[in-house]
Amino acid sequence: MRKHYTGLIERYKDRLPISESTRIISIGEGNTPLIQLENIPKLINKDVEIFVKYEGLNPTGSFKDRGMTMAITKAVEEGGQAVICASTGNTSASAAAYAVRAGITAFVLIPEGKIALGKLAQTLMYGAKIIQIKDNFDAGMRLVKEIVDHAPVTIVNSINPFRIDGQKTAAFEIIDELGDAPDYHCLPVGNAGNITAYWKGYKEYSTDSDNLPAVTEKRPVMCGYQAAGAAPFISGAMIDNPETVATAIRIGHPQSWDYAWAAQKESGGWFDCFTDDKILAAQKMLASHEGIFCEPASAASLAGALKDIASGKIPEGSRIVCTLTGNGLKDPDVAITQCADDQPVAVEATLDSVKRAILDQM
Ligand SMILES: *Cc1c(COP(=O)(O)O)cnc(C)c1O
Repeated sequence: MRKHYTGLIERYKDRLPISESTRIISIGEGNTPLIQLENIPKLINKDVEIFVKYEGLNPTGSFKDRGMTMAITKAVEEGGQAVICASTGNTSASAAAYAVRAGITAFVLIPEGKIALGKLAQTLMYGAKIIQIKDNFDAGMRLVKEIVDHAPVTIVNSINPFRIDGQKTAAFEIIDELGDAPDYHCLPVGNAGNITAYWKGYKEYSTDSDNLPAVTEKRPVMCGYQAAGAAPFISGAMIDNPETVATAIRIGHPQSWDYAWAAQKESGGWFDCFTDDKILAAQKMLASHEGIFCEPASAASLAGALKDIASGKIPEGSRIVCTLTGNGLKDPDVAITQCADDQPVAVEATLDSVKRAILDQM
């Protein structure tokens, strides 16, 4: 058999903190498609190259798997028997899958009633120990940080540095595929681990280290986008009671606050925010014009890129990468609600009725 792709740790082991004897816990994460948009640039009539990094095609349907393969690998290496995270949904699904793969226990704290249906279904199926709390993600995060002093569990939220190391490989993949860094990198920001990780990856690939030469000199401008109801990076201070339909970024107290500001400043980038309506419009635009279905939070990256292209802040001639952090199938409720006006027709099961239904809609 030709050597098959096992996962991102195998591929980037020279740049990750593992050794030859490390048992790698992988479900084939990473190596996600970088898809160039064809129809939307024509629609907006701008000479730009927009690529989307479709992280929804990771094993559990979000980029969290990149970090989780590393976090669980290291937890197991250090003899851990149980991991814990607070989650808006995707971290819990990912932790649950990688923990069961490793043969250890995952405890997940989720906000009761506030996680998307697909994420809950996954976490249940993988068999995690779910603890629903009558509060939001930020409260869960606070509890998780306290509980490690009272129970033998390893935190696998993105405050775990191995999460960031795994997630930085997305930047490596983009440079390896495009041959260089893009001009702009747009992504949604919640807890701010991912913007931290991408910036770390872009910096490492553009810096000589002891045993590895730089791959490129170029680094992108980092653009972080939030939901208007959960936008601490726009208000400049943490907020309580964040609210947005994009539950994956319904976070008011981002844990990687300082790192995200450093990424923005060092790259010459910016933060901006969008109403739920704008985010959902971008989600639908991507699905209905390009055939790419991402979850609401992910669409903040495209909403941001389109606004900044329209205003000229991102000039024509630019090459832009938008990270689509999660799969649209994660949140079927929001998708179906969004399409309430496009109810499918129902007809008799006869040739004549079906023919009429087709000709009526051509
Ligand atoms: C976790 C997540 C985010 C936010 O990433 P952070 O690292 O918390 O900023 C955005 N979109 C989706 C789909 C996510 O699961």
